[in-house]
Amino acid sequence: MEKIVLYPSPGIGHLISMVELGKLLLSHSSSISSITILIANFPSLSSSYSSYISSVSASFPSITFLSLPSIPLLLGDPSNYEDVEHMLYEILRSNSQNVKQSLESISISSPVSAFIIDFFCYSAVEVSQTLKLPTYFFFTSGASALAFFLNFPVFDKIATDSYRNLKDSASFEIPGLFSVPASHMLEPMLDRGVSYHEFVKMAETMPKSDGIIVNTFESLEVKAVKGLKQGTCLPGTQIPPVYCIGPLFANRGAGAENNGEERHECLKWLDSQPSKSVVYLGFGSRGMFSKEQIWEIAFGLERSGVRFLWTVRAPPSQEKGANLSQPPDPDLDSILPEGFLDRTKDRGHVAKSWVPQIAVLGHESVGGFVSHCGWNSTLEAVDAGVPMVAWPLYAEQRFNKILIVEEIGIALPMDENEDWFVSSSEIEKRVKQILGSEGDIVRKQMLKMSEKGKIALNEGQSSNVALTALMESWIH
Ligand code: UDP
Repeated sequence: MEKIVLYPSPGIGHLISMVELGKLLLSHSSSISSITILIANFPSLSSSYSSYISSVSASFPSITFLSLPSIPLLLGDPSNYEDVEHMLYEILRSNSQNVKQSLESISISSPVSAFIIDFFCYSAVEVSQTLKLPTYFFFTSGASALAFFLNFPVFDKIATDSYRNLKDSASFEIPGLFSVPASHMLEPMLDRGVSYHEFVKMAETMPKSDGIIVNTFESLEVKAVKGLKQGTCLPGTQIPPVYCIGPLFANRGAGAENNGEERHECLKWLDSQPSKSVVYLGFGSRGMFSKEQIWEIAFGLERSGVRFLWTVRAPPSQEKGANLSQPPDPDLDSILPEGFLDRTKDRGHVAKSWVPQIAVLGHESVGGFVSHCGWNSTLEAVDAGVPMVAWPLYAEQRFNKILIVEEIGIALPMDENEDWFVSSSEIEKRVKQILGSEGDIVRKQMLKMSEKGKIALNEGQSSNVALTALMESWIH
Protein backbone atom coordinates (compact mmCIF):
# COMPACT_ATOMS: atom_id res chain seq x y z
CA MET A 1 0.00 0.00 0.00
CA GLU A 2 1.24 3.44 -0.94
CA LYS A 3 1.53 6.64 0.99
CA ILE A 4 1.48 9.92 -0.86
CA VAL A 5 2.37 13.34 0.52
CA LEU A 6 1.09 16.49 -1.17
CA TYR A 7 2.45 19.96 -0.51
CA PRO A 8 0.28 22.77 -1.93
CA SER A 9 1.20 26.42 -1.72
CA PRO A 10 -1.11 28.36 0.63
CA GLY A 11 -4.04 30.05 -1.05
CA ILE A 12 -7.39 28.46 -1.54
CA GLY A 13 -7.07 28.00 -5.33
CA HIS A 14 -3.83 26.04 -5.11
CA LEU A 15 -5.10 24.01 -2.13
CA ILE A 16 -8.33 23.06 -3.89
CA SER A 17 -6.46 21.97 -7.04
CA MET A 18 -4.10 19.83 -4.97
CA VAL A 19 -6.99 18.24 -3.04
CA GLU A 20 -8.67 17.44 -6.36
CA LEU A 21 -5.45 15.79 -7.50
CA GLY A 22 -5.47 13.75 -4.29
CA LYS A 23 -9.08 12.68 -4.89
CA LEU A 24 -8.21 11.73 -8.47
CA LEU A 25 -5.29 9.58 -7.33
CA LEU A 26 -7.49 7.85 -4.74
CA SER A 27 -10.22 7.17 -7.29
CA HIS A 28 -7.72 5.83 -9.81
CA SER A 29 -5.97 3.31 -7.59
CA SER A 30 -7.00 1.23 -4.61
CA SER A 31 -3.35 0.73 -3.68
CA ILE A 32 -3.07 4.17 -2.05
CA SER A 33 -3.48 3.78 1.70
CA SER A 34 -3.18 7.43 2.66
CA ILE A 35 -2.71 10.94 1.35
CA THR A 36 -1.20 13.51 3.68
CA ILE A 37 -1.46 17.17 2.74
CA LEU A 38 1.07 19.49 4.35
CA ILE A 39 -0.36 22.90 5.17
CA ALA A 40 2.03 25.82 5.50
CA ASN A 41 0.84 28.69 7.61
CA PHE A 42 0.21 31.96 5.79
CA PRO A 43 -0.82 35.30 7.38
CA SER A 44 -3.99 35.96 5.39
CA LEU A 45 -5.66 32.54 5.26
CA SER A 46 -9.39 33.09 5.38
CA SER A 47 -11.91 31.21 7.55
CA SER A 48 -13.19 29.51 4.37
CA TYR A 49 -9.74 27.87 4.19
CA SER A 50 -10.19 25.98 7.47
CA SER A 51 -13.84 25.16 6.80
CA TYR A 52 -12.82 23.74 3.41
CA ILE A 53 -10.17 21.57 5.11
CA SER A 54 -12.71 20.32 7.67
CA SER A 55 -15.21 19.40 4.98
CA VAL A 56 -12.60 17.45 2.96
CA SER A 57 -11.42 15.64 6.10
CA ALA A 58 -14.99 14.65 6.91
CA SER A 59 -15.76 13.33 3.42
CA PHE A 60 -12.41 11.69 2.61
CA PRO A 61 -11.01 9.78 5.59
CA SER A 62 -7.94 8.71 3.56
CA ILE A 63 -6.93 12.37 3.23
CA THR A 64 -5.21 13.84 6.28
CA PHE A 65 -4.10 17.45 6.69
CA LEU A 66 -0.94 18.14 8.62
CA SER A 67 -0.46 21.79 9.63
CA LEU A 68 3.14 22.90 9.76
CA PRO A 69 4.04 25.10 12.73
CA SER A 70 3.69 28.80 12.05
CA ILE A 71 6.93 30.63 11.40
CA PRO A 72 7.61 34.31 12.07
CA LEU A 73 8.03 36.42 8.94
CA LEU A 74 11.63 37.48 8.37
CA LEU A 75 10.49 40.99 7.42
CA GLY A 76 8.10 41.23 10.37
CA ASP A 77 4.95 42.51 8.73
CA PRO A 78 3.26 41.38 5.47
CA SER A 79 3.29 44.98 4.25
CA ASN A 80 7.10 44.88 4.13
CA TYR A 81 7.06 42.42 1.22
CA GLU A 82 7.25 43.60 -2.37
CA ASP A 83 4.37 41.30 -3.37
CA VAL A 84 2.44 38.20 -2.26
CA GLU A 85 4.80 35.93 -4.17
CA HIS A 86 7.83 37.30 -2.30
CA MET A 87 6.22 36.45 1.05
CA LEU A 88 5.00 33.09 -0.22
CA TYR A 89 8.41 31.92 -1.41
CA GLU A 90 10.02 33.04 1.85
CA ILE A 91 7.48 31.26 4.09
CA LEU A 92 7.79 28.07 2.09
CA ARG A 93 11.59 28.16 2.26
CA SER A 94 11.52 28.81 6.02
CA ASN A 95 9.39 25.68 6.33
CA SER A 96 12.03 23.32 4.91
CA GLN A 97 13.02 21.92 8.29
CA ASN A 98 9.38 21.34 9.24
CA VAL A 99 8.74 19.62 5.93
CA LYS A 100 11.74 17.37 6.52
CA GLN A 101 10.54 16.39 9.99
CA SER A 102 7.02 15.71 8.71
CA LEU A 103 8.28 13.54 5.86
CA GLU A 104 10.50 11.62 8.26
CA SER A 105 7.71 10.99 10.72
CA ILE A 106 5.24 9.96 7.99
CA SER A 107 7.89 7.52 6.66
CA ILE A 108 8.50 5.79 10.01
CA SER A 109 6.12 2.84 9.53
CA SER A 110 6.50 2.56 5.75
CA PRO A 111 8.13 4.67 3.03
CA VAL A 112 6.44 7.54 1.21
CA SER A 113 5.86 6.55 -2.44
CA ALA A 114 5.65 10.05 -3.86
CA PHE A 115 5.99 13.64 -2.70
CA ILE A 116 4.01 15.99 -4.94
CA ILE A 117 4.58 19.73 -4.61
CA ASP A 118 3.23 22.98 -5.99
CA PHE A 119 5.80 25.00 -7.96
CA PHE A 120 5.88 27.67 -5.24
CA CYS A 121 7.17 24.96 -2.87
CA TYR A 122 10.26 24.26 -4.99
CA SER A 123 12.63 24.85 -2.05
CA ALA A 124 11.33 21.55 -0.58
CA VAL A 125 13.02 19.60 -3.39
CA GLU A 126 16.35 19.84 -1.60
CA VAL A 127 14.78 18.23 1.46
CA SER A 128 12.94 15.45 -0.31
CA GLN A 129 15.92 14.57 -2.44
CA THR A 130 18.10 14.29 0.67
CA LEU A 131 15.50 11.80 1.93
CA LYS A 132 15.59 10.09 -1.50
CA LEU A 133 11.85 10.50 -2.04
CA PRO A 134 10.44 10.46 -5.58
CA THR A 135 9.47 14.11 -6.02
CA TYR A 136 6.98 15.48 -8.55
CA PHE A 137 5.76 18.96 -9.32
CA PHE A 138 2.05 19.61 -9.76
CA PHE A 139 1.78 22.49 -12.21
CA THR A 140 -1.60 24.16 -11.80
CA SER A 141 -1.49 26.02 -15.12
CA GLY A 142 -1.29 24.50 -18.63
CA ALA A 143 1.40 22.75 -20.67
CA SER A 144 2.18 25.86 -22.73
CA ALA A 145 2.65 27.84 -19.53
CA LEU A 146 4.94 25.09 -18.26
CA ALA A 147 7.09 25.39 -21.40
CA PHE A 148 7.08 29.17 -20.80
CA PHE A 149 8.11 28.80 -17.13
CA LEU A 150 10.88 26.32 -17.94
CA ASN A 151 12.38 28.94 -20.23
CA PHE A 152 12.68 31.62 -17.51
CA PRO A 153 16.40 30.89 -16.93
CA VAL A 154 17.01 31.18 -20.70
CA PHE A 155 15.10 34.48 -20.91
CA ASP A 156 16.99 35.69 -17.83
CA LYS A 157 20.28 35.32 -19.70
CA ILE A 158 19.16 37.19 -22.78
CA ALA A 159 17.03 39.99 -21.31
CA THR A 160 18.97 43.27 -21.35
CA ASP A 161 16.72 45.06 -18.87
CA SER A 162 13.69 44.41 -16.65
CA TYR A 163 10.64 43.24 -18.58
CA ARG A 164 8.76 46.31 -17.40
CA ASN A 165 11.34 48.60 -19.03
CA LEU A 166 11.61 46.49 -22.16
CA LYS A 167 7.83 46.58 -22.66
CA ASP A 168 7.16 45.62 -26.27
CA SER A 169 10.64 46.37 -27.56
CA ALA A 170 11.67 42.77 -26.91
CA SER A 171 9.97 39.42 -27.07
CA PHE A 172 11.08 36.01 -25.91
CA GLU A 173 10.61 32.87 -27.92
CA ILE A 174 9.47 29.56 -26.49
CA PRO A 175 11.01 27.20 -29.07
CA GLY A 176 8.34 25.53 -31.17
CA LEU A 177 5.55 27.53 -29.57
CA PHE A 178 5.32 31.30 -29.82
CA SER A 179 7.03 34.51 -28.73
CA VAL A 180 5.99 36.41 -25.64
CA PRO A 181 6.46 40.21 -25.53
CA ALA A 182 8.27 41.42 -22.39
CA SER A 183 5.07 43.22 -21.35
CA HIS A 184 3.22 39.87 -21.26
CA MET A 185 5.65 38.21 -18.86
CA LEU A 186 4.54 36.96 -15.47
CA GLU A 187 3.33 39.94 -13.45
CA PRO A 188 5.62 39.41 -10.40
CA MET A 189 8.59 39.08 -12.79
CA LEU A 190 8.17 42.44 -14.50
CA ASP A 191 10.69 44.05 -12.13
CA ARG A 192 13.88 42.33 -11.12
CA GLY A 193 13.01 42.03 -7.44
CA VAL A 194 13.09 39.07 -5.07
CA SER A 195 10.11 37.36 -6.74
CA TYR A 196 11.76 37.56 -10.16
CA HIS A 197 14.81 35.64 -8.93
CA GLU A 198 12.65 33.13 -7.05
CA PHE A 199 10.74 32.32 -10.24
CA VAL A 200 14.00 31.80 -12.14
CA LYS A 201 15.31 29.47 -9.42
CA MET A 202 12.01 27.62 -9.33
CA ALA A 203 12.26 27.09 -13.10
CA GLU A 204 15.81 25.76 -12.71
CA THR A 205 14.62 23.32 -10.06
CA MET A 206 11.60 21.84 -11.86
CA PRO A 207 13.65 19.82 -14.39
CA LYS A 208 15.50 18.16 -11.50
CA SER A 209 12.32 16.45 -10.28
CA ASP A 210 11.06 12.96 -11.13
CA GLY A 211 8.16 14.30 -13.15
CA ILE A 212 5.78 17.19 -13.72
CA ILE A 213 2.03 16.69 -13.45
CA VAL A 214 0.06 19.24 -15.49
CA ASN A 215 -3.58 20.19 -15.24
CA THR A 216 -4.38 20.07 -18.94
CA PHE A 217 -5.23 17.54 -21.63
CA GLU A 218 -3.13 16.75 -24.65
CA SER A 219 -5.52 17.77 -27.42
CA LEU A 220 -6.00 21.24 -25.91
CA GLU A 221 -2.29 22.07 -26.14
CA VAL A 222 -0.91 19.76 -28.81
CA LYS A 223 2.22 21.75 -29.68
CA ALA A 224 3.28 22.35 -26.09
CA VAL A 225 2.72 18.75 -25.00
CA LYS A 226 4.79 17.53 -27.94
CA GLY A 227 7.54 20.09 -27.23
CA LEU A 228 7.67 19.06 -23.57
CA LYS A 229 7.74 15.34 -24.31
CA GLN A 230 10.37 15.65 -27.02
CA GLY A 231 12.33 18.27 -25.12
CA THR A 232 12.28 20.66 -28.09
CA CYS A 233 10.78 23.54 -26.13
CA LEU A 234 13.85 23.72 -23.87
CA PRO A 235 16.91 22.74 -25.91
CA GLY A 236 19.92 21.66 -23.87
CA THR A 237 18.02 20.72 -20.70
CA GLN A 238 16.58 17.32 -19.91
CA ILE A 239 12.87 17.68 -19.10
CA PRO A 240 11.55 14.95 -16.78
CA PRO A 241 8.40 13.00 -17.78
CA VAL A 242 5.36 15.27 -18.12
CA TYR A 243 1.94 13.85 -17.13
CA CYS A 244 -1.09 15.75 -18.49
CA ILE A 245 -3.88 14.45 -16.29
CA GLY A 246 -6.58 17.15 -16.67
CA PRO A 247 -8.95 18.77 -16.91
CA LEU A 248 -9.11 18.66 -13.15
CA PHE A 249 -11.68 20.86 -11.48
CA ALA A 250 -11.94 22.49 -8.16
CA ASN A 251 -15.30 22.17 -6.45
CA ARG A 252 -17.20 20.51 -9.27
CA GLY A 253 -20.90 21.20 -8.87
CA ALA A 254 -20.42 24.02 -6.38
CA GLY A 255 -23.31 26.41 -6.11
CA ALA A 256 -26.07 23.98 -6.87
CA GLU A 257 -27.71 23.16 -3.54
CA ASN A 258 -24.50 21.62 -2.20
CA ASN A 259 -24.03 20.91 1.50
CA GLY A 260 -27.62 21.91 2.07
CA GLU A 261 -26.77 25.54 1.26
CA GLU A 262 -29.36 27.67 -0.44
CA ARG A 263 -28.97 28.15 -4.17
CA HIS A 264 -27.05 31.31 -4.99
CA GLU A 265 -29.11 34.34 -5.92
CA CYS A 266 -27.37 34.68 -9.30
CA LEU A 267 -28.36 31.14 -10.31
CA LYS A 268 -31.99 31.89 -9.53
CA TRP A 269 -31.68 34.99 -11.70
CA LEU A 270 -30.08 32.96 -14.50
CA ASP A 271 -33.04 30.55 -14.37
CA SER A 272 -35.26 33.33 -15.65
CA GLN A 273 -33.07 34.23 -18.64
CA PRO A 274 -33.31 32.77 -22.16
CA SER A 275 -30.90 30.09 -23.30
CA LYS A 276 -27.31 31.26 -24.09
CA SER A 277 -28.37 34.90 -23.76
CA VAL A 278 -26.19 36.03 -20.83
CA VAL A 279 -22.57 37.14 -20.81
CA TYR A 280 -20.85 36.39 -17.50
CA LEU A 281 -18.03 38.71 -16.37
CA GLY A 282 -15.85 37.18 -13.64
CA PHE A 283 -12.24 37.86 -12.79
CA GLY A 284 -10.97 35.06 -10.56
CA SER A 285 -10.23 35.16 -6.87
CA ARG A 286 -8.19 38.37 -6.97
CA GLY A 287 -9.39 40.37 -9.96
CA MET A 288 -10.02 44.02 -9.11
CA PHE A 289 -10.46 47.22 -11.09
CA SER A 290 -10.11 50.93 -10.39
CA LYS A 291 -13.34 52.87 -10.04
CA GLU A 292 -12.70 54.44 -13.49
CA GLN A 293 -12.44 50.99 -15.08
CA ILE A 294 -15.56 49.78 -13.23
CA TRP A 295 -17.47 52.73 -14.67
CA GLU A 296 -16.17 51.97 -18.14
CA ILE A 297 -17.40 48.36 -17.84
CA ALA A 298 -20.78 49.62 -16.64
CA PHE A 299 -21.11 52.06 -19.58
CA GLY A 300 -20.07 49.35 -22.05
CA LEU A 301 -22.60 46.88 -20.66
CA GLU A 302 -25.34 49.47 -20.57
CA ARG A 303 -24.81 50.56 -24.18
CA SER A 304 -24.45 46.98 -25.45
CA GLY A 305 -28.01 46.09 -24.51
CA VAL A 306 -26.93 42.49 -23.74
CA ARG A 307 -27.97 40.45 -20.72
CA PHE A 308 -25.16 40.17 -18.19
CA LEU A 309 -24.07 38.67 -14.88
CA TRP A 310 -21.17 40.69 -13.46
CA THR A 311 -19.16 39.94 -10.33
CA VAL A 312 -17.93 43.22 -8.89
CA ARG A 313 -15.17 43.66 -6.29
CA ALA A 314 -14.25 46.82 -4.45
CA PRO A 315 -11.39 48.74 -6.13
CA PRO A 316 -7.95 47.93 -4.71
CA SER A 317 -6.95 49.87 -1.64
CA GLN A 318 -3.88 52.07 -2.05
CA GLU A 319 -2.63 51.04 1.40
CA LYS A 320 0.64 49.11 1.43
CA GLY A 321 0.07 45.39 1.90
CA ALA A 322 -3.69 45.69 1.37
CA ASN A 323 -3.57 43.29 -1.56
CA LEU A 324 -2.43 40.51 0.78
CA SER A 325 -5.92 39.98 2.15
CA GLN A 326 -9.41 39.77 0.66
CA PRO A 327 -11.07 43.19 0.33
CA PRO A 328 -14.48 43.76 1.95
CA ASP A 329 -17.61 43.41 -0.20
CA PRO A 330 -18.14 46.47 -2.38
CA ASP A 331 -20.74 49.12 -1.73
CA LEU A 332 -22.34 48.92 -5.18
CA ASP A 333 -24.16 52.25 -4.94
CA SER A 334 -20.92 54.11 -4.33
CA ILE A 335 -18.75 52.42 -6.97
CA LEU A 336 -21.19 52.03 -9.89
CA PRO A 337 -22.43 54.98 -11.99
CA GLU A 338 -25.55 56.54 -10.53
CA GLY A 339 -28.73 54.81 -11.70
CA PHE A 340 -26.86 51.99 -13.49
CA LEU A 341 -28.40 49.19 -11.42
CA ASP A 342 -31.86 50.60 -11.93
CA ARG A 343 -31.49 51.17 -15.67
CA THR A 344 -30.20 47.61 -16.29
CA LYS A 345 -32.30 45.73 -13.73
CA ASP A 346 -34.37 43.96 -16.38
CA ARG A 347 -31.40 42.39 -18.08
CA GLY A 348 -28.47 42.49 -15.67
CA HIS A 349 -27.47 41.00 -12.35
CA VAL A 350 -24.53 42.34 -10.32
CA ALA A 351 -23.07 40.03 -7.69
CA LYS A 352 -20.79 41.20 -4.91
CA SER A 353 -17.27 39.69 -4.92
CA TRP A 354 -18.05 36.02 -5.58
CA VAL A 355 -20.38 33.68 -7.47
CA PRO A 356 -20.34 29.87 -7.74
CA GLN A 357 -18.54 30.03 -11.06
CA ILE A 358 -18.68 26.39 -12.13
CA ALA A 359 -22.44 26.36 -11.68
CA VAL A 360 -22.71 29.71 -13.49
CA LEU A 361 -20.70 28.51 -16.50
CA GLY A 362 -22.70 25.29 -16.57
CA HIS A 363 -26.00 27.19 -16.57
CA GLU A 364 -28.02 26.93 -19.76
CA SER A 365 -28.51 30.72 -19.95
CA VAL A 366 -24.81 31.60 -20.09
CA GLY A 367 -23.48 32.11 -23.62
CA GLY A 368 -20.19 33.98 -23.11
CA PHE A 369 -17.55 34.59 -20.46
CA VAL A 370 -15.42 37.71 -20.06
CA SER A 371 -12.53 36.23 -18.07
CA HIS A 372 -9.22 37.21 -16.50
CA CYS A 373 -7.75 34.08 -18.15
CA GLY A 374 -6.87 32.26 -14.91
CA TRP A 375 -6.14 28.67 -15.82
CA ASN A 376 -8.87 27.14 -13.65
CA SER A 377 -11.42 29.54 -15.12
CA THR A 378 -10.23 28.64 -18.60
CA LEU A 379 -10.61 24.90 -18.00
CA GLU A 380 -14.01 25.46 -16.42
CA ALA A 381 -15.12 27.42 -19.50
CA VAL A 382 -13.77 24.66 -21.74
CA ASP A 383 -15.68 22.05 -19.77
CA ALA A 384 -18.88 24.05 -20.04
CA GLY A 385 -18.24 24.88 -23.72
CA VAL A 386 -18.66 28.64 -23.09
CA PRO A 387 -16.57 30.88 -25.43
CA MET A 388 -14.49 33.56 -23.77
CA VAL A 389 -13.36 37.15 -24.08
CA ALA A 390 -9.81 37.35 -22.74
CA TRP A 391 -9.08 40.21 -20.35
CA PRO A 392 -5.97 39.23 -18.36
CA LEU A 393 -5.07 40.97 -15.11
CA TYR A 394 -2.25 39.29 -13.14
CA ALA A 395 -0.02 36.20 -12.71
CA GLU A 396 0.54 34.35 -16.03
CA GLN A 397 -2.75 35.59 -17.51
CA ARG A 398 -1.31 37.77 -20.29
CA PHE A 399 0.50 34.69 -21.51
CA ASN A 400 -2.74 32.68 -21.28
CA LYS A 401 -4.45 35.35 -23.37
CA ILE A 402 -2.03 34.77 -26.27
CA LEU A 403 -2.56 31.05 -25.88
CA ILE A 404 -6.35 30.99 -25.84
CA VAL A 405 -6.88 33.73 -28.42
CA GLU A 406 -4.14 33.05 -30.97
CA GLU A 407 -3.19 29.42 -30.47
CA ILE A 408 -6.28 27.53 -29.32
CA GLY A 409 -8.85 29.95 -30.73
CA ILE A 410 -11.40 29.68 -27.92
CA ALA A 411 -11.48 33.37 -26.98
CA LEU A 412 -11.82 36.82 -28.51
CA PRO A 413 -9.31 39.39 -27.29
CA MET A 414 -10.30 42.35 -25.14
CA ASP A 415 -8.05 45.05 -26.57
CA GLU A 416 -6.38 47.25 -24.00
CA ASN A 417 -4.58 50.57 -24.33
CA GLU A 418 -0.98 51.22 -23.22
CA ASP A 419 -1.91 51.37 -19.52
CA TRP A 420 -3.99 48.20 -19.78
CA PHE A 421 -7.17 50.31 -19.62
CA VAL A 422 -10.15 49.05 -21.62
CA SER A 423 -12.63 51.51 -23.11
CA SER A 424 -16.39 51.17 -22.79
CA SER A 425 -16.70 50.91 -26.58
CA GLU A 426 -14.33 47.92 -26.66
CA ILE A 427 -16.33 46.25 -23.88
CA GLU A 428 -19.60 46.98 -25.67
CA LYS A 429 -18.21 45.54 -28.92
CA ARG A 430 -16.80 42.35 -27.38
CA VAL A 431 -19.80 41.38 -25.26
CA LYS A 432 -22.02 41.74 -28.32
CA GLN A 433 -19.61 39.76 -30.48
CA ILE A 434 -19.22 36.83 -28.11
CA LEU A 435 -22.97 36.27 -27.94
CA GLY A 436 -23.62 36.98 -31.62
CA SER A 437 -22.57 35.60 -35.00
CA GLU A 438 -19.09 37.15 -34.75
CA GLY A 439 -18.48 34.71 -31.91
CA ASP A 440 -19.35 31.70 -34.06
CA ILE A 441 -15.77 30.65 -34.81
CA VAL A 442 -14.56 30.70 -31.21
CA ARG A 443 -17.83 29.12 -30.03
CA LYS A 444 -17.40 26.24 -32.44
CA GLN A 445 -13.78 25.73 -31.43
CA MET A 446 -14.75 25.88 -27.74
CA LEU A 447 -17.38 23.19 -28.20
CA LYS A 448 -14.84 21.03 -30.00
CA MET A 449 -12.33 21.40 -27.15
CA SER A 450 -15.04 20.77 -24.59
CA GLU A 451 -15.84 17.47 -26.24
CA LYS A 452 -12.15 16.52 -26.40
CA GLY A 453 -11.66 17.40 -22.74
CA LYS A 454 -14.40 15.01 -21.69
CA ILE A 455 -12.99 12.23 -23.84
CA ALA A 456 -9.44 12.70 -22.43
CA LEU A 457 -10.59 11.54 -19.00
CA ASN A 458 -12.14 8.31 -20.22
CA GLU A 459 -10.45 4.99 -19.71
CA GLY A 460 -7.68 4.41 -22.23
CA GLN A 461 -7.64 8.08 -23.30
CA SER A 462 -4.71 10.49 -22.89
CA SER A 463 -5.29 11.90 -19.37
CA ASN A 464 -6.31 8.53 -17.98
CA VAL A 465 -3.27 6.84 -19.53
CA ALA A 466 -1.00 9.61 -18.16
CA LEU A 467 -2.40 9.06 -14.66
CA THR A 468 -1.68 5.33 -14.85
CA ALA A 469 1.85 6.03 -16.11
CA LEU A 470 2.41 8.48 -13.25
CA MET A 471 1.38 5.95 -10.63
CA GLU A 472 3.44 3.22 -12.23
CA SER A 473 6.47 5.51 -12.20
CA TRP A 474 6.59 5.60 -8.43
CA ILE A 475 5.82 1.95 -7.91
CA HIS A 476 8.70 0.74 -10.08
N1 UDP B 1 -14.16 31.35 -8.60
C1 UDP B 1 -15.47 31.21 -8.20
N2 UDP B 1 -16.23 32.33 -8.09
C2 UDP B 1 -15.77 33.57 -8.34
C3 UDP B 1 -14.43 33.70 -8.77
C4 UDP B 1 -13.66 32.58 -8.88
O1 UDP B 1 -15.96 30.09 -7.96
O2 UDP B 1 -16.52 34.53 -8.23
C5 UDP B 1 -13.33 30.14 -8.72
C6 UDP B 1 -13.25 29.70 -10.18
O3 UDP B 1 -14.32 28.83 -10.48
C7 UDP B 1 -11.89 29.04 -10.23
C8 UDP B 1 -11.09 29.79 -9.20
O4 UDP B 1 -12.01 30.44 -8.34
O5 UDP B 1 -11.98 27.68 -9.87
C9 UDP B 1 -10.20 30.84 -9.82
O6 UDP B 1 -9.09 30.21 -10.35
P1 UDP B 1 -8.32 30.80 -11.58
O7 UDP B 1 -7.17 29.91 -11.83
O8 UDP B 1 -9.22 31.00 -12.73
O9 UDP B 1 -7.89 32.24 -11.16
P2 UDP B 1 -7.14 32.81 -9.86
O10 UDP B 1 -8.18 33.15 -8.88
O11 UDP B 1 -6.19 31.76 -9.38
O12 UDP B 1 -6.49 34.01 -10.41
